[in-house]
Amino acid sequence: MRGVVFVGDRQLDMRELPKPAPGPGEVVLAMKASGLCGSDLRPYRMPRAQRGNPIALAVGGHEPCGVVAEVGPGVTTVQVGDRVMMHHYTGCGTCRMCRIGYTQMCLHHHEVYGFTQGGGHQDFLKVPVPTCVALPEALSFEEGAACACGTGTAFHALKRLGISGIDTIAIFGQGPVGLSATQFAATMGARVIAVDVVPERLELATQLGADLAIDASADPPVEAIRALTHGEGADATLDATGIPEVRLNAVDSVRLWGRVCFVGEGNTTTFDVSPQIIHKQLTIYGSWTFSLSGLAEVANFVVERRVPLKDLITHRFTLDQAAEAYQLFDSGRTGKVVLIWP
Ligand SMILES: [Zn+2]
Ligand SMILES: [Zn+2]
Repeated sequence: MRGVVFVGDRQLDMRELPKPAPGPGEVVLAMKASGLCGSDLRPYRMPRAQRGNPIALAVGGHEPCGVVAEVGPGVTTVQVGDRVMMHHYTGCGTCRMCRIGYTQMCLHHHEVYGFTQGGGHQDFLKVPVPTCVALPEALSFEEGAACACGTGTAFHALKRLGISGIDTIAIFGQGPVGLSATQFAATMGARVIAVDVVPERLELATQLGADLAIDASADPPVEAIRALTHGEGADATLDATGIPEVRLNAVDSVRLWGRVCFVGEGNTTTFDVSPQIIHKQLTIYGSWTFSLSGLAEVANFVVERRVPLKDLITHRFTLDQAAEAYQLFDSGRTGKVVLIWP
């Protein structure tokens, strides 16, 4: 079977690997869809020297979705043929965070599939049974893959913000996470202001339900958002970029008593805390993906509210075309990009 590894310097290695066999409590998934997520661009772009010994690198891809192909000894809760999304983390399984399904926050040690363990960019993936979450019949594998990280992250960030139909939310960054947030916030009834610098992504944001789109390269976004909110600022803002200057904009464009959520990872940002945060009485959330039950929750929301998640997916490639898929995704002009096994 084949597997794709990020070796650094925007290069991928396609490897021939032995097909895994499930041990006790494990299953092997036949991949049907494996999403590309913004956080994959970090190892993808990293200089080769920093990535280290290529032989030791795990297969990439942390949005795996597929069918149970084989079950190990003692496995009773899933069966061959089950359609599943994978929650791409494991922890000790017994600490307080693991018990509430936040295995990525395990108090002892956690593994991340697609980074420290082999991920979804391979034909077959061996995983512990508790990481498998049933994919609703009404969802396609590629929609399930999106839910498994980027789209799920967007949904749970909006939950943290308590978004409802009385809110105007400004969403900074319209990549796959920001676009999902736009689509969900619109479904929740909010008025959505989408902010980005890429015309293709702003166009897509408008198609997915944004009321207004601001091109931050042409229009200073803080002023533009105030102009659209009676000079007060948005009720809530979400940063899906991780860019320091954009984080400042997210804080500066929210109204007095507003709520801000950060999901974009990396970088250091400096705030002038008194004027920017304290004197505005802000509530600021950090939101890191979601729990095991949170994955089921976002998938159910998509089904029950008929969110057209497939419209988020702009490009599909096979595993053999992974290099082309990443090259395109790296350009920053796409919606969601997924690898599929047709
Ligand atoms: Zn734990
Ligand atoms: Zn991700």
